[in-house]
Amino acid sequence: MSEPLESLLKQVEARAEELVGLASRLIRFQTPAPPARNTAEAQSFIASFLEEKGFAIDRWDVYPGDPNVVGVLRGQDPARYKSLIINGHVDVAEVSQGEAWDTDPFDPFVKDGSLVGRGAADMKGGLAGALFAVQLLHEAGIRLPGDVLFQSVIGEEVGEAGTLQCCKRGYSADFAVVVDTSDLHIQGQGGVITGWVTVKSKETYHDATRRNMIHAGGGLHGASAIEKMMKIIQGLQELERHWAVTKSYPGFAPGTNTINPAVIEGGRHAAFIADECRLWITVHFYPNETYEGVAREIEDWLGRVSQADPWLKDNPPQFRWGGASMIEDRGEIFPSLQVDPQHEAVRLLGGAHESVLLEPAIVDVSPTVTDGGWFSDAGIPAAIYGPGNLRNAHSVNERVSVEQLVRFTQVMLKFIYEWSHTLK
Ligand SMILES: [Zn+2]
Repeated sequence: MSEPLESLLKQVEARAEELVGLASRLIRFQTPAPPARNTAEAQSFIASFLEEKGFAIDRWDVYPGDPNVVGVLRGQDPARYKSLIINGHVDVAEVSQGEAWDTDPFDPFVKDGSLVGRGAADMKGGLAGALFAVQLLHEAGIRLPGDVLFQSVIGEEVGEAGTLQCCKRGYSADFAVVVDTSDLHIQGQGGVITGWVTVKSKETYHDATRRNMIHAGGGLHGASAIEKMMKIIQGLQELERHWAVTKSYPGFAPGTNTINPAVIEGGRHAAFIADECRLWITVHFYPNETYEGVAREIEDWLGRVSQADPWLKDNPPQFRWGGASMIEDRGEIFPSLQVDPQHEAVRLLGGAHESVLLEPAIVDVSPTVTDGGWFSDAGIPAAIYGPGNLRNAHSVNERVSVEQLVRFTQVMLKFIYEWSHTLK
């Protein structure tokens, strides 16, 4: 290892308290989502932090009060050397009334070797570690040859995909690390898409017509949208089972690809036959599948279920897939992410991990979803790699081990340095 890098890695350990201070500073900004629209101050802090380290800042409102920040540190020779995106979300999981925290969740403290506070694991610890790595490189006067982009994004906890907005704005790189909760595993992920399935009758009938609709000789060709939705739900259960039997992906328990009927709404009043019923579903799929693909499969399947029904065939279900926010339009998409263990950056990150932790890096899949999928969706190779474990994310007394935070920062420092020195 080169001399300056070696001494920087030692500095991370020596200055662990400063690192914990930075993480605590981030946790003190109260950025839970929901309610969201509360990240402007935290983003200003991160923007000036990056600006002081030589980054050019781009900041824009994704929603009022929720700006994205992208810092770009131009390399010395970006045409020849690899570029890197470091990505993290600044919003944290909500804190509900009456949760039994040992203390104020936004007033972090260290207990038994762990930093405790909302967002410690998911993911202000990861953000702080990556920022601290950048700080040490800057202080040492190291000029990196490749570009480094730091994306501090909003909205991850409520499917608002600040990361998607970065991709849409044109930010790209040779590799992206999402420093979200992964317990220092290098991870890909399955995906999630939500959807609304609506059964709607062309006519509206009085409750008193039910006899004519369902009994012999009634003669009225109508239906309750609620009862027809039962058929749709059964169809989804059959498809879910079919998927569980026929599809699999290494690292996931069989049947992880579920279709959850999460919310149902329908009918107008007890004096009517229900003329509309809406079902909100959550679909989990594997890393080698796309959200467009699974949505098509469901539409196709329910299309055939409907063809076999005398009323549904003329009144087929309608679909609305995804959405840009769970708060604004009740829908979200998290694309899946496949990690290629042989990708140059993944091998380099794994090597950095091994040299710091003295054990091989584990490459596997996250049991949850992160913004990592948006990079894959945009054609940017990516992986999730961050401190903290999911048991301690979103939880009461959320925590991250200080030791792991230090190791993470060392690995990131080494990885940023080495990837930036890799020829294109
Ligand atoms: Zn997260």
